[in-house]
Amino acid sequence: MALTIAYIGLGGNLDNTLELLGSARKAIAALQGVSELAFSRFYRSAPMGNVDQPDFINAVMAVETSLSAHDLLKALQRIEHSHGRVRNGLRWGPRTLDLDLLTFGLEVIADEGLTIPHAGIADREFVLYPMAEIAPSDFSIPGLGRLDDLVTNCPKRSLEFIAHG
Ligand code: ATP
Ligand code: CA
Ligand code: CA
Repeated sequence: MALTIAYIGLGGNLDNTLELLGSARKAIAALQGVSELAFSRFYRSAPMGNVDQPDFINAVMAVETSLSAHDLLKALQRIEHSHGRVRNGLRWGPRTLDLDLLTFGLEVIADEGLTIPHAGIADREFVLYPMAEIAPSDFSIPGLGRLDDLVTNCPKRSLEFIAHG
């Protein structure tokens, strides 16, 4: 069975986010056909878009999976729901749990429900810095180039380390 290494971004800015991200991590690792390879430290950052909301806490997880990208995204969305995520139609609005599929092996996907690599990776300090902690040093993101270079071109603005994963 073919196994793929995928990177997942975890984030949230409501209630007990740190606990919630820990619980989401366990739920992801417990999925059939998914095993955890690595988990970054936790970071705090200022919200994007609507700034009238609490800071976000983010981390990145690397997994190995036998699932397809679409099936992994569906499983992540089920975990978001089971952790109280309510979709209020507000992009970048407050949420208990946001799970983004950042990369899926070397795949490039652009269909209605799934964009891989995830749009916006190159501009997001809360994705690039934690990802660089756990990815191999020569890691490249399909279509975007070396992760090292992306980090260098994305200066830290509000990102702060808060806890070990
Ligand atoms: P952003 O995607 O800019 O981080 P967001 O996380 O707030 O914003 P959501 O409301 O969580 O956006 O997701 C909107 C839609 O994005 C989802 O319905 C999902 O189908 C789609 N989507 C496309 N590609 C991905 C991906 N790689 N990971 C997660 N969701 C994705
Ligand atoms: Ca997101
Ligand atoms: Ca999302």
